[in-house]
Amino acid sequence: MRSETHYIQGATMRSIAVYCGSKMGHHPAFEQGARDLGQCLAQQGIRLVYGGGNVGLMGAVASQALAAGGEVVGVMPQALKDREIAHTGLSELIVVPDIHQRKQAMADLADGFIAMPGGAGTLEEIFEVWTWGQLGYHGKPCAFYNVNGYFDTLLAFVDQMVSAGFMSGEYREMLTISADPARIVSAFEDYQPPRKKWS
Ligand code: AMP
Repeated sequence: MRSETHYIQGATMRSIAVYCGSKMGHHPAFEQGARDLGQCLAQQGIRLVYGGGNVGLMGAVASQALAAGGEVVGVMPQALKDREIAHTGLSELIVVPDIHQRKQAMADLADGFIAMPGGAGTLEEIFEVWTWGQLGYHGKPCAFYNVNGYFDTLLAFVDQMVSAGFMSGEYREMLTISADPARIVSAFEDYQPPRKKWS
């Protein structure tokens, strides 16, 4: 059963979960964006919680946060540990039995959630925590870190969910969209969760 974490509104961010691609992407802006985010979190004393791998943008954000003196916790399912090549320099690597427990652990450990550019796995993870927020399972903020405009077309579709009558606009407003990591952190600190979907 999912735990209901009660978030203190307007609280300082102590830990942020970052979901990101296991690939680097073709444009160099993606890797640079990952490094900028890792650097920003470390500089602000925010612990990075992520999937624990040393591949793609996952590895880039973690390595930069560590290089800048930040704390980085990886959460990895046993079965993915070899395939995603666990990062060996982490502050802590938590190995969990399966992917569901990874997602739950990352959600519990973090005060907010950021999606970097990535593939289906990345989108699955951010959409899940976003929907948990709509249902009131948690009151934590979610962001799309829109490096190089990567999420523009996805966000246009999210707007279509609202205009076609499948989602309330207040749930669209829950999302922080920015290409600037510091702006995401400051928006997270001001975040007020919406009312629960069925209340
Ligand atoms: P991707 O964005 O597809 O490269 O996936 C990024 C990472 O998300 C993968 O390397 C996995 O660690 C994780 N992932 C992939 N599929 C899922 C899923 N269905 N649920 C949770 N995490 C996933």
